[in-house]
Amino acid sequence: MINRQRIIDEFTCQASIDSPSFKEAAMAEYLEHRFKQLGGSVEFDDAGAVIGSNSNNMIIRFSGNKVGEPLLLSAHMDTVTPAENVEPVLNDGIFTSAGATILGGDDKSGIVEIIEALEVLHEQQIPHVPQEIAITIGEEQGLLGAKQLDFSQFKAKQGLALDTRGIDIVINRAPAANRFTIDIIGHEAHAGVCPEQGISAIQIASRAISRMELGRIDAETTANIGTIHGGLASNIIPGRVSLRGEVRSHNIDKLREQTEAIITIVEDEVSRAKVTIGDETKQATMALELHEDFSPMLVAEDAPILHLIQAAGAALQRPQKIEAAGGGSDANIFNGHGIEMVIMATGMEKVHTINEYISVDDMVKASELLVEIIRRA
Ligand SMILES: [Zn+2]
Repeated sequence: MINRQRIIDEFTCQASIDSPSFKEAAMAEYLEHRFKQLGGSVEFDDAGAVIGSNSNNMIIRFSGNKVGEPLLLSAHMDTVTPAENVEPVLNDGIFTSAGATILGGDDKSGIVEIIEALEVLHEQQIPHVPQEIAITIGEEQGLLGAKQLDFSQFKAKQGLALDTRGIDIVINRAPAANRFTIDIIGHEAHAGVCPEQGISAIQIASRAISRMELGRIDAETTANIGTIHGGLASNIIPGRVSLRGEVRSHNIDKLREQTEAIITIVEDEVSRAKVTIGDETKQATMALELHEDFSPMLVAEDAPILHLIQAAGAALQRPQKIEAAGGGSDANIFNGHGIEMVIMATGMEKVHTINEYISVDDMVKASELLVEIIRRA
């Protein structure tokens, strides 16, 4: 039923079209042609101008030949870098990249599997409900494309994103995240001549960091200070340090508490750092930039979409494992807008590295599962 060679050809073609975030235009042009060939109606929004991409989110609709609520399928067309002149190589049924680039299976494997499923539905004349397909841009840069989608255009109440590693894995929960940049501003002074006139921003930062709870906080929550930049020279008391970090949690209250705890510690250390020069007192200050990155995702284990996927997996004698994700994806955004969306494994492996690979067998399996899901929807 699934056409293995067609999957090989489709993946080879898509992986050969470079589509790093913000430069998805060539990929979009190809996909528009490909989905129209399959009989879909293709539309673009105007998200590109907002997020700084040369393309837009693509929405494809297939009318279906069975009465029922549409099913939403989603994938993203952008990739991480290095993604210049990607050359996919197939060896013993495994795709890798030839050079020092990623392969782009994240998330082209998802798009390939959607296309193969549509081909099979059409060829086998399998009755199916209407499909709404969202192929987004800028996912890898913080779900930027999905955040710009007009959700009023979707009739679907449930769906799946094809966008995670492994096979026969379904993700039903993913954390929300806060990213932040904290600038600590002390006071510069010559370190050898008049150190008593300086306030060391590095010292404030290190005092604060040593008090923070970081790493895994509990089963649902993590926190990290990822970069620290500051200082000018060994003989200057540093006047400025910039910290960048994040907190993630499956629990929105814990996310807020943990983020606040970090900020409060910095505020405390900053407020204590002052120096008096003559009759003037100088006080350290800080500036905070807080980004709420995505809302959490939690699809209940008894949700219809999970029943549907479990039933499809059982029919193929491939039980589906339900897992939590460590990071956010477009599905967080869809769930935040009331569409129950889970994430399906596409076979992609070692993504976001130049050692990325994917097996053709797994793409065949994922396509087969998708056909079964759509048939039962
Ligand atoms: Zn992805």
